[in-house]
Amino acid sequence: MNNPTSLAEALFGLDGFQILEVTETPDELIINIETKSVVVGCPTCGVRAQAKDRMRVDIRDLPCFGRPARLVWMKRRWRCGDRDCEEKTWTEISEHVPSRELLTNRAGIEATRQVGELARPVSGVAKELGVCWQTVMDAVKLHGAPLVDDPERVGKVGALGIDETSFLKATKSHPTLYATGLVDLDHRIVIDMVEGNSAASLRSWCRNADPGWLGEITVVATDLAESYRAGLSPHLDHAIRVADPFHVTQVANRALDKVRRRVQRETLGRRGRKNDPLYRIRKLLLSGAERLDERGNERLLLGLRIGDPDNEIHGAWLAKESVRDIYLTDDPSQAELLLDKAITGCLKDKVPEIRSLGRTLKRWRTEILNHHLTGASNGPTEGLNLCVKTVKRCGHGFRSFENYRLRVLLHTGGVNWPEHPSPPRIRTRNPHLNA
Ligand SMILES: [Zn+2]
Repeated sequence: MNNPTSLAEALFGLDGFQILEVTETPDELIINIETKSVVVGCPTCGVRAQAKDRMRVDIRDLPCFGRPARLVWMKRRWRCGDRDCEEKTWTEISEHVPSRELLTNRAGIEATRQVGELARPVSGVAKELGVCWQTVMDAVKLHGAPLVDDPERVGKVGALGIDETSFLKATKSHPTLYATGLVDLDHRIVIDMVEGNSAASLRSWCRNADPGWLGEITVVATDLAESYRAGLSPHLDHAIRVADPFHVTQVANRALDKVRRRVQRETLGRRGRKNDPLYRIRKLLLSGAERLDERGNERLLLGLRIGDPDNEIHGAWLAKESVRDIYLTDDPSQAELLLDKAITGCLKDKVPEIRSLGRTLKRWRTEILNHHLTGASNGPTEGLNLCVKTVKRCGHGFRSFENYRLRVLLHTGGVNWPEHPSPPRIRTRNPHLNA
């Protein structure tokens, strides 16, 4: 391979093209190319085509030896040899460059991997390649959608987790927009994202899913949202519904927080400030009793003595602990005893927030206890929510739900990425030889 042209073409690696010239500017490498085709037939009638003229197309390729690369392809336009043929003229195409795209396939796939697998911001990838945001997003859609739609991506699911994430923060023109994530709890991948958090959106997703696939789901874990419980019916009525432990404790925490804020307002006539006794213990209140050391305990008691004249917060704290107690045991019958104790205690309480907590626990009694029977929880979902947050952070707020869904699924959906070269490692140099 001593001929300079064939050397350049070997480096270039797009078959069917020949390199005419390579020039260099301070910012990029410019590679003039054309196809090797000399004889082509008309796509309609097959008659040998005549060369008409050429058209210049600028395309971005993968960077070359650390420099951005611009391909200048002098595209041929052909004319059918048969004057009566309706095909008249056409422009040549290449399998390496999708029509009307500004990136070669290999550059588009790499951009998709950067944005999807590595959750990098589209703008950063665009800047690196020297194209605009839209070009990269178009490539992510073009190459990413088939990966997400691949039927092999999601296999048989036994345990389904359903969780809410916020998709767009509230602005002047709309409230916070939510999305529902569906997760394969065993394989820890996001199966799909659905716009909204209503019963209707979940139900319509189930309606569109393959009934055979739904039939194999035995357990569904959700938070304590009536909308999700309602949305599971009728398509997932056969599955055991589990209330996720994290969310059960969260409901108790929220009740405690509400009482703290109300007592704060009633005793001081305003919202909590940095040095208020109740504000200072707000985090201690929410952490589990077993996690508090002696000092923490003392601070908690002191804060309550000063800030909680009628023992209302203390009552809510005890209620919260009684809910946490349910998860001290793995034994279903012990859990049942503990839960019923918590429910009875809450329902009799004089504090309205605690009574409301008791009613919620009572409504979800079966689902809460199902955790101990099945062992299912959304623990994996919470982990995935962190990944989803990575995607959200790098997107700086999504305007399009479709783009958001695509990027979340590319990042956390268990996508089978196309083979990526894994070169043999070049061994570390022996340090003694350098001395
Ligand atoms: Zn023709």
